Amino acid sequence: MRAVTYQAPGEVRIDEVADPVLSHPDEAIIQIEASGICGSDLHIFHGRVPVDPGTTIGHEYVGTVTAVGDAVTRVAVGDRVLGCFLVACGSCANCLRGDYHRCERGRTFGHGKNLGALGGTQADQALIPFADMVLRKVPEGMSAETALFAGDVMGTGYHAIAHAGMREGDSVAVLGLGPVGLCAVQAAVAGGATQVFAVDSVEQRLELAARFGATPIHLTEGDPKAEVRAATEGRGADVVVEAVGAPAAVDAAIGLARNAGTVSGIGVQVGKSEMNLGLAWLKGLDLRLGQANVIAHVDRVLALLESRKLDPTPLVTHHMKLDEAVEAYDIYDRREALKIILTP
Ligand SMILES: [Zn+2]
Ligand SMILES: [Zn+2]
Repeated sequence: MRAVTYQAPGEVRIDEVADPVLSHPDEAIIQIEASGICGSDLHIFHGRVPVDPGTTIGHEYVGTVTAVGDAVTRVAVGDRVLGCFLVACGSCANCLRGDYHRCERGRTFGHGKNLGALGGTQADQALIPFADMVLRKVPEGMSAETALFAGDVMGTGYHAIAHAGMREGDSVAVLGLGPVGLCAVQAAVAGGATQVFAVDSVEQRLELAARFGATPIHLTEGDPKAEVRAATEGRGADVVVEAVGAPAAVDAAIGLARNAGTVSGIGVQVGKSEMNLGLAWLKGLDLRLGQANVIAHVDRVLALLESRKLDPTPLVTHHMKLDEAVEAYDIYDRREALKIILTP
Protein backbone atom coordinates (compact mmCIF):
# COMPACT_ATOMS: atom_id res chain seq x y z
CA MET A 1 0.00 0.00 0.00
CA ARG A 2 0.99 3.66 -0.29
CA ALA A 3 2.02 5.56 2.84
CA VAL A 4 3.36 9.02 3.65
CA THR A 5 6.68 8.46 5.40
CA TYR A 6 9.04 10.75 7.27
CA GLN A 7 12.53 10.77 5.77
CA ALA A 8 14.53 13.66 7.26
CA PRO A 9 13.79 17.11 8.68
CA GLY A 10 11.70 18.88 6.02
CA GLU A 11 11.31 15.75 3.91
CA VAL A 12 8.41 13.32 3.56
CA ARG A 13 7.65 11.02 0.64
CA ILE A 14 5.14 8.49 -0.64
CA ASP A 15 6.46 5.00 -0.10
CA GLU A 16 5.19 1.57 -0.98
CA VAL A 17 5.00 -0.32 2.34
CA ALA A 18 3.62 -3.68 3.51
CA ASP A 19 -0.14 -3.93 4.11
CA PRO A 20 -1.08 -4.16 7.81
CA VAL A 21 -2.04 -7.59 9.17
CA LEU A 22 -4.05 -8.48 12.28
CA SER A 23 -1.86 -9.83 15.07
CA HIS A 24 -4.16 -9.49 18.10
CA PRO A 25 -7.87 -10.23 18.60
CA ASP A 26 -8.69 -6.63 19.66
CA GLU A 27 -7.43 -5.10 16.40
CA ALA A 28 -9.13 -3.91 13.23
CA ILE A 29 -7.84 -2.89 9.81
CA ILE A 30 -9.44 -0.02 7.93
CA GLN A 31 -9.26 1.19 4.35
CA ILE A 32 -8.61 4.92 4.68
CA GLU A 33 -11.17 7.24 3.06
CA ALA A 34 -9.67 10.51 4.30
CA SER A 35 -6.81 11.59 6.54
CA GLY A 36 -5.91 15.04 7.87
CA ILE A 37 -2.60 16.86 8.16
CA CYS A 38 -2.25 18.35 11.63
CA GLY A 39 -0.01 20.79 13.48
CA SER A 40 1.58 17.89 15.35
CA ASP A 41 2.55 16.31 12.01
CA LEU A 42 4.55 19.47 11.41
CA HIS A 43 6.59 18.86 14.58
CA ILE A 44 7.53 15.47 13.11
CA PHE A 45 8.14 17.00 9.65
CA HIS A 46 10.69 19.37 11.19
CA GLY A 47 12.32 16.70 13.34
CA ARG A 48 11.23 18.36 16.61
CA VAL A 49 9.37 15.16 17.48
CA PRO A 50 11.92 12.51 16.54
CA VAL A 51 10.76 9.48 14.54
CA ASP A 52 12.83 7.00 12.55
CA PRO A 53 13.15 7.60 8.79
CA GLY A 54 10.55 5.47 7.02
CA THR A 55 7.90 5.92 9.75
CA THR A 56 4.37 6.26 8.35
CA ILE A 57 2.84 9.45 9.75
CA GLY A 58 -0.69 10.83 10.24
CA HIS A 59 -3.27 10.30 12.98
CA GLU A 60 -6.59 11.82 11.81
CA TYR A 61 -8.70 9.41 9.79
CA VAL A 62 -11.97 8.05 8.52
CA GLY A 63 -12.23 4.72 6.73
CA THR A 64 -14.07 1.46 6.20
CA VAL A 65 -13.39 -1.60 8.32
CA THR A 66 -11.96 -4.43 6.20
CA ALA A 67 -10.95 -6.91 8.93
CA VAL A 68 -11.52 -7.37 12.67
CA GLY A 69 -10.03 -9.65 15.31
CA ASP A 70 -12.23 -12.13 17.21
CA ALA A 71 -12.53 -9.89 20.29
CA VAL A 72 -13.85 -6.83 18.42
CA THR A 73 -17.59 -6.43 18.97
CA ARG A 74 -18.52 -2.78 18.44
CA VAL A 75 -17.52 -2.45 14.80
CA ALA A 76 -17.73 -4.94 11.94
CA VAL A 77 -16.35 -5.39 8.43
CA GLY A 78 -18.00 -2.86 6.12
CA ASP A 79 -18.64 -0.23 8.84
CA ARG A 80 -17.63 3.34 7.98
CA VAL A 81 -15.70 4.57 11.01
CA LEU A 82 -13.68 7.42 12.42
CA GLY A 83 -10.99 6.95 15.01
CA CYS A 84 -9.17 8.77 17.79
CA PHE A 85 -5.57 9.90 17.35
CA LEU A 86 -4.42 7.67 20.19
CA VAL A 87 -5.43 4.26 21.46
CA ALA A 88 -6.26 3.08 24.99
CA CYS A 89 -6.76 -0.39 26.44
CA GLY A 90 -9.84 0.34 28.54
CA SER A 91 -8.70 -1.90 31.37
CA CYS A 92 -5.58 -0.43 33.04
CA ALA A 93 -5.81 1.61 36.25
CA ASN A 94 -5.88 4.94 34.40
CA CYS A 95 -8.47 3.77 31.85
CA LEU A 96 -10.70 2.48 34.67
CA ARG A 97 -10.73 6.04 36.03
CA GLY A 98 -11.64 7.34 32.57
CA ASP A 99 -8.21 8.88 32.00
CA TYR A 100 -7.80 7.22 28.59
CA HIS A 101 -5.22 9.78 27.49
CA ARG A 102 -2.90 8.44 30.18
CA CYS A 103 -3.50 4.73 29.39
CA GLU A 104 -0.59 2.56 30.51
CA ARG A 105 -0.73 0.85 27.10
CA GLY A 106 -1.58 4.00 25.18
CA ARG A 107 -0.03 4.54 21.75
CA THR A 108 -0.38 7.37 19.26
CA PHE A 109 -0.73 6.85 15.52
CA GLY A 110 2.17 8.00 13.37
CA HIS A 111 4.44 9.31 16.15
CA GLY A 112 7.23 6.74 16.08
CA LYS A 113 8.80 4.55 18.76
CA ASN A 114 8.53 7.08 21.60
CA LEU A 115 4.74 6.95 21.42
CA GLY A 116 4.26 3.24 20.86
CA ALA A 117 5.48 2.61 17.30
CA LEU A 118 2.00 2.65 15.83
CA GLY A 119 1.77 3.14 12.07
CA GLY A 120 0.28 6.38 10.76
CA THR A 121 -2.97 6.92 8.89
CA GLN A 122 -1.78 8.98 5.91
CA ALA A 123 -1.83 5.74 3.95
CA ASP A 124 -4.19 3.44 2.07
CA GLN A 125 -4.80 1.31 5.17
CA ALA A 126 -4.23 1.43 8.93
CA LEU A 127 -4.06 -1.08 11.77
CA ILE A 128 -6.20 -0.05 14.76
CA PRO A 129 -5.40 -1.67 18.15
CA PHE A 130 -8.13 -1.73 20.83
CA ALA A 131 -10.62 -1.08 18.03
CA ASP A 132 -13.67 -1.14 20.35
CA MET A 133 -12.20 1.75 22.35
CA VAL A 134 -10.81 3.77 19.47
CA LEU A 135 -13.30 3.53 16.59
CA ARG A 136 -16.82 4.91 16.25
CA LYS A 137 -19.29 4.51 13.40
CA VAL A 138 -19.64 7.68 11.33
CA PRO A 139 -23.20 9.01 11.76
CA GLU A 140 -25.38 8.60 8.66
CA GLY A 141 -24.77 11.36 6.09
CA MET A 142 -21.73 12.89 7.83
CA SER A 143 -18.82 13.77 5.55
CA ALA A 144 -15.40 12.22 6.18
CA GLU A 145 -13.81 15.62 6.66
CA THR A 146 -16.28 16.50 9.42
CA ALA A 147 -16.06 13.11 11.13
CA LEU A 148 -12.28 13.02 11.32
CA PHE A 149 -12.28 16.16 13.47
CA ALA A 150 -14.06 14.22 16.25
CA GLY A 151 -11.06 12.00 16.92
CA ASP A 152 -8.52 14.79 17.17
CA VAL A 153 -8.86 18.54 16.62
CA MET A 154 -12.48 19.09 17.66
CA GLY A 155 -12.09 16.57 20.48
CA THR A 156 -9.11 18.60 21.66
CA GLY A 157 -10.87 21.97 21.40
CA TYR A 158 -13.84 20.47 23.24
CA HIS A 159 -11.52 19.07 25.93
CA ALA A 160 -9.97 22.50 26.50
CA ILE A 161 -13.42 23.79 27.43
CA ALA A 162 -14.73 20.69 29.23
CA HIS A 163 -11.52 20.24 31.25
CA ALA A 164 -11.80 23.87 32.37
CA GLY A 165 -15.22 23.11 33.84
CA MET A 166 -16.75 25.96 31.83
CA ARG A 167 -20.40 26.61 32.70
CA GLU A 168 -23.22 28.34 30.87
CA GLY A 169 -22.90 32.06 31.38
CA ASP A 170 -19.12 32.04 31.68
CA SER A 171 -16.85 34.38 29.76
CA VAL A 172 -14.05 32.64 27.87
CA ALA A 173 -10.87 33.90 26.23
CA VAL A 174 -9.06 31.71 23.70
CA LEU A 175 -5.40 32.47 22.99
CA GLY A 176 -4.23 31.11 19.65
CA LEU A 177 -6.62 30.48 16.76
CA GLY A 178 -5.09 27.51 15.02
CA PRO A 179 -7.55 24.70 14.32
CA VAL A 180 -7.65 23.66 18.01
CA GLY A 181 -8.22 27.22 19.23
CA LEU A 182 -10.98 27.77 16.67
CA CYS A 183 -12.61 24.50 17.74
CA ALA A 184 -12.36 25.65 21.37
CA VAL A 185 -14.19 28.85 20.35
CA GLN A 186 -16.99 26.74 18.86
CA ALA A 187 -17.13 24.48 21.93
CA ALA A 188 -17.34 27.51 24.24
CA VAL A 189 -20.17 29.03 22.21
CA ALA A 190 -21.99 25.67 21.99
CA GLY A 191 -21.54 25.22 25.75
CA GLY A 192 -23.30 28.48 26.54
CA ALA A 193 -20.47 30.94 27.11
CA THR A 194 -21.93 34.46 27.06
CA GLN A 195 -18.76 36.15 25.83
CA VAL A 196 -15.92 34.50 23.92
CA PHE A 197 -12.80 36.55 23.20
CA ALA A 198 -10.58 35.16 20.46
CA VAL A 199 -6.97 36.35 20.31
CA ASP A 200 -4.53 35.87 17.43
CA SER A 201 -2.48 37.95 15.00
CA VAL A 202 -3.72 36.36 11.74
CA GLU A 203 -6.60 38.31 10.22
CA GLN A 204 -8.19 35.31 8.47
CA ARG A 205 -8.31 33.37 11.75
CA LEU A 206 -9.81 36.31 13.63
CA GLU A 207 -12.50 36.57 10.95
CA LEU A 208 -13.34 32.87 11.32
CA ALA A 209 -13.58 33.24 15.10
CA ALA A 210 -15.94 36.18 14.65
CA ARG A 211 -18.03 34.05 12.28
CA PHE A 212 -18.25 31.42 15.04
CA GLY A 213 -19.62 34.02 17.46
CA ALA A 214 -16.48 35.28 19.21
CA THR A 215 -15.21 38.82 19.74
CA PRO A 216 -11.93 38.94 17.79
CA ILE A 217 -8.96 40.71 19.40
CA HIS A 218 -5.75 41.30 17.48
CA LEU A 219 -2.79 40.21 19.61
CA THR A 220 -0.50 43.12 18.74
CA GLU A 221 -2.71 45.76 17.14
CA GLY A 222 -5.26 45.40 19.94
CA ASP A 223 -4.80 45.12 23.71
CA PRO A 224 -6.23 41.74 24.80
CA LYS A 225 -5.94 42.42 28.53
CA ALA A 226 -7.57 45.84 28.36
CA GLU A 227 -10.33 44.64 26.03
CA VAL A 228 -11.18 41.55 28.09
CA ARG A 229 -11.15 43.62 31.30
CA ALA A 230 -13.34 46.32 29.75
CA ALA A 231 -15.92 43.72 28.69
CA THR A 232 -15.97 41.94 32.08
CA GLU A 233 -16.33 44.91 34.42
CA GLY A 234 -12.62 44.83 35.12
CA ARG A 235 -12.59 41.22 36.32
CA GLY A 236 -11.03 39.18 33.49
CA ALA A 237 -12.34 36.01 31.85
CA ASP A 238 -13.77 33.10 33.84
CA VAL A 239 -11.94 30.61 31.62
CA VAL A 240 -8.84 31.23 29.52
CA VAL A 241 -7.79 28.61 26.96
CA GLU A 242 -4.14 28.61 25.94
CA ALA A 243 -3.94 26.96 22.49
CA VAL A 244 -0.52 28.15 21.40
CA GLY A 245 1.90 25.83 23.18
CA ALA A 246 4.33 28.48 24.43
CA PRO A 247 5.21 29.43 28.02
CA ALA A 248 4.61 33.10 27.18
CA ALA A 249 1.06 32.25 26.15
CA VAL A 250 0.40 30.54 29.50
CA ASP A 251 1.71 33.68 31.15
CA ALA A 252 -0.63 35.80 29.06
CA ALA A 253 -3.50 33.45 29.98
CA ILE A 254 -2.72 33.91 33.68
CA GLY A 255 -2.95 37.66 33.10
CA LEU A 256 -6.33 37.44 31.33
CA ALA A 257 -8.06 35.19 33.88
CA ARG A 258 -10.25 36.59 36.64
CA ASN A 259 -9.52 35.94 40.31
CA ALA A 260 -10.23 32.26 41.07
CA GLY A 261 -10.72 31.62 37.36
CA THR A 262 -9.37 28.73 35.30
CA VAL A 263 -6.54 28.52 32.78
CA SER A 264 -6.84 25.54 30.44
CA GLY A 265 -3.51 24.90 28.74
CA ILE A 266 -4.04 22.63 25.74
CA GLY A 267 -0.98 23.81 23.75
CA VAL A 268 1.95 21.37 23.90
CA GLN A 269 4.64 22.37 26.43
CA VAL A 270 8.15 20.95 26.51
CA GLY A 271 10.65 21.05 29.39
CA LYS A 272 11.05 23.70 32.06
CA SER A 273 9.69 27.21 31.57
CA GLU A 274 9.38 30.46 33.41
CA MET A 275 5.96 31.86 34.11
CA ASN A 276 4.32 34.13 36.63
CA LEU A 277 3.30 31.48 39.16
CA GLY A 278 3.13 34.20 41.81
CA LEU A 279 0.32 35.93 39.96
CA ALA A 280 -1.44 32.61 39.38
CA TRP A 281 -1.19 31.90 43.11
CA LEU A 282 -2.32 35.36 44.09
CA LYS A 283 -5.35 35.07 41.81
CA GLY A 284 -6.14 31.58 43.13
CA LEU A 285 -6.22 30.18 39.61
CA ASP A 286 -6.97 26.65 38.61
CA LEU A 287 -4.27 25.61 36.10
CA ARG A 288 -5.31 22.61 34.02
CA LEU A 289 -2.81 21.23 31.55
CA GLY A 290 -2.15 18.26 29.33
CA GLN A 291 -3.13 16.29 26.29
CA ALA A 292 -6.82 15.95 25.45
CA ASN A 293 -8.80 12.91 26.61
CA VAL A 294 -10.47 12.54 23.21
CA ILE A 295 -11.71 8.99 23.78
CA ALA A 296 -13.73 10.25 26.76
CA HIS A 297 -15.31 13.00 24.64
CA VAL A 298 -15.69 11.42 21.20
CA ASP A 299 -19.35 10.37 21.50
CA ARG A 300 -20.46 13.80 22.77
CA VAL A 301 -18.40 15.56 20.11
CA LEU A 302 -19.93 13.37 17.40
CA ALA A 303 -23.42 14.18 18.67
CA LEU A 304 -22.59 17.91 18.61
CA LEU A 305 -21.21 17.58 15.08
CA GLU A 306 -24.32 15.71 13.98
CA SER A 307 -26.56 18.45 15.42
CA ARG A 308 -24.27 21.06 13.76
CA LYS A 309 -23.75 22.86 17.07
CA LEU A 310 -20.11 22.21 16.20
CA ASP A 311 -19.10 22.57 12.54
CA PRO A 312 -15.44 22.34 11.57
CA THR A 313 -16.00 22.51 7.80
CA PRO A 314 -14.92 26.19 7.53
CA LEU A 315 -11.51 25.05 8.85
CA VAL A 316 -10.93 22.75 5.89
CA THR A 317 -9.01 24.90 3.42
CA HIS A 318 -7.47 22.25 1.13
CA HIS A 319 -8.49 18.90 -0.38
CA MET A 320 -5.60 16.99 -1.92
CA LYS A 321 -4.72 13.46 -3.02
CA LEU A 322 -2.53 11.17 -0.94
CA ASP A 323 -0.07 11.18 -3.84
CA GLU A 324 0.25 14.97 -3.44
CA ALA A 325 1.33 14.67 0.21
CA VAL A 326 4.80 16.14 -0.40
CA GLU A 327 3.25 19.30 -1.83
CA ALA A 328 0.59 19.27 0.91
CA TYR A 329 3.25 19.33 3.64
CA ASP A 330 4.98 22.24 1.91
CA ILE A 331 1.71 24.18 1.77
CA TYR A 332 0.97 23.39 5.41
CA ASP A 333 4.51 24.32 6.43
CA ARG A 334 4.12 27.71 4.73
CA ARG A 335 1.01 28.20 6.92
CA GLU A 336 -1.16 28.63 3.85
CA ALA A 337 -3.65 26.04 5.11
CA LEU A 338 -5.65 25.51 8.30
CA LYS A 339 -6.58 21.90 7.56
CA ILE A 340 -5.61 19.77 4.57
CA ILE A 341 -7.63 16.63 3.89
CA LEU A 342 -5.85 13.85 1.97
CA THR A 343 -7.91 11.28 0.10
CA PRO A 344 -6.71 8.22 -1.84
ZN1 LIG B 1 -3.75 16.02 15.03
ZN1 LIG C 1 -5.46 1.65 29.56
